[in-house]
Amino acid sequence: MGETTVRIQDDLYEAVNGEWIKNAVIPDDRPVTGGFNTLDEEVEKIMMADFKAFAEGTKTTDIPEMKYAISLYKKGIDEKRRNSEGIEPVLPLLNKIKNLKTVEDLNEVATELLVDDLPLPIKMCVDTDMADATKNSFIVLGPDIILPDTTYYADDNESGKQLLEVYKDMASKILKFSPLTEDEQKKFLEDTIAYDALIAKKVKSQLEWAEYYKNQNPMDTDEVAKFVAPFDIKKVLKDLYGDKAPSVLIVYDPKAIKEMNGYFNNENFELYTHWLYVKTLVKATACLSLELKTLGTTFRRALLGVDSDPVIEKEAYRVAETLYADPVGIYYGRTYFGEEAKKDVVDMVKRIIETYKVRMKKNSFLAEVTKEKAIKKLSTLEIKMGYPDSIKEIWSKLVFDESDSYYDAVYKVSAIKNKDQLDKLYKPVDRTEWAMPGHMVNACYNPTCNDLTFPAAILQKPFYSLSQSDSENLGGIGAIIGHEISHAFDNNGAKFDEKGNLSNWWLDEDFKAFEKLTKDMVEQFDGMEYHGGKVSGELTVSENIADNGGVGVTLEIMHNTENADFQEYFKNWARVWCMKAKEEFIQYLLANDVHSPMGLRANIPPRNFAEWYEAFGVTDKDQMYIAPEKRISIW
Ligand SMILES: [Zn+2]
Repeated sequence: MGETTVRIQDDLYEAVNGEWIKNAVIPDDRPVTGGFNTLDEEVEKIMMADFKAFAEGTKTTDIPEMKYAISLYKKGIDEKRRNSEGIEPVLPLLNKIKNLKTVEDLNEVATELLVDDLPLPIKMCVDTDMADATKNSFIVLGPDIILPDTTYYADDNESGKQLLEVYKDMASKILKFSPLTEDEQKKFLEDTIAYDALIAKKVKSQLEWAEYYKNQNPMDTDEVAKFVAPFDIKKVLKDLYGDKAPSVLIVYDPKAIKEMNGYFNNENFELYTHWLYVKTLVKATACLSLELKTLGTTFRRALLGVDSDPVIEKEAYRVAETLYADPVGIYYGRTYFGEEAKKDVVDMVKRIIETYKVRMKKNSFLAEVTKEKAIKKLSTLEIKMGYPDSIKEIWSKLVFDESDSYYDAVYKVSAIKNKDQLDKLYKPVDRTEWAMPGHMVNACYNPTCNDLTFPAAILQKPFYSLSQSDSENLGGIGAIIGHEISHAFDNNGAKFDEKGNLSNWWLDEDFKAFEKLTKDMVEQFDGMEYHGGKVSGELTVSENIADNGGVGVTLEIMHNTENADFQEYFKNWARVWCMKAKEEFIQYLLANDVHSPMGLRANIPPRNFAEWYEAFGVTDKDQMYIAPEKRISIW
């Protein structure tokens, strides 16, 4: 990296990453590069080479479940067959949809469509019950809309209007391949847009979804059935569970369910089936001929500013690694992740948890009784590091026929997975399942399990390396670990106890004090200018609390670290957030992502801590200064 004229005291992010960003080239098939994304590109390159070798038979693996992933990959790259079949594989399904003339017809096949993951008037799934995290519950919510968020449908949202035009243009071109007449194509598409607009008036916005603890709304099945009629949810439940159909459902977005009559009723049933037809066809293009596949990504490319589709080998790899996430992640972990690194990072996580406890004890706004409960939550945190030890049974069941088309194989595998998930309703929650596979460059905290997941793929430079200094590792993976732990105490996580149950373990006045700090954090980010847009402090508050906690706890460890170099710490903190992205992608993230823009994630949290001012001699003359009374440290 060369010299840059930006002073670190004015812009840490730019001073550290500016030169790299200037020279970096965003790959044609991605909207973004740098930091997490650069690592992801590298992992993908390694894994694609392995898949190529597996497919050619020059390499083998002793993980039996990998053979299905490899076989699916081979179907994906079989351009000749995919092109010769064209739209044919999806035709039987499209004809079936076209023959749905009444709501009764739909009710007859609804369970089948649910298992096949096709868009019904409501979405249904099975997942952990937030009130009792040992068991699963049946969940209902409104359908997906075409645009990323309800806010795009506002009259004055120009990008929403443009994107909808892109979708219409894409869908009309795809529909030309269908057996529909020209008039029908036009009508189906008009109805799809009209139906989508009706849904957008009822479903939750991204901002509402961000407060996920509010998803826990139990409602009697009878009551839900009345709201969603004439759609027969009781028949779906009976098909799936017979006499054991649940009497209570969890409604994630009550408005969409209570006001479902506004978008689904006997009168507009045709509107629904046309929407179902178009959405099913557009989704299917991903597995059809290359011409259809390329048409089908037009909307996504416009939304994120991506120039071109990945090569077919990359797309086929991505489909395989997503559908066979655990076997692929375990293969990656066993092949590319060392035990020494695993032990080292687990030790680091334990040290950070212990430091967190010390900070909790010193905390100034919590009563003793609340501190004790918070410390209990820290003590029971589970750590999932690298990749799972063993492969669950389900992964050996994801089979398809040798003769299947690519489309049929992909749909069969996802249907088996869907059915397996629906069948979990009366099984206890399996806490040994991993939320992220080993080859994913990411990390997470799961509030209902009170556990932390750090996939093998993120445990690399610049986040972590045995060859990096302790200060660099603490500014990288250390702060990420601290960030994930802080999610246990962000505005959402704070609502869950140490068992992962939604329950109030706070004294009223303690929670009020926490809410005041949460509000301060909303204000610290709200309205900050970024690429002509503005950051929403509310949308990003949970992630900003987590970043603040991650920096706070690791800086405390720095004080007890031999040869601690605070400059190295802050530089690596800024390095991991490095990002160069297409303008469309930046705007997309600003409107939809719960994380603040990368430049702000690098630059805002340090200003809250005295160590930042000492490390680089930052004063009130510098851009990266904020007055002591404005500095926030929550955890
Ligand atoms: Zn986070």
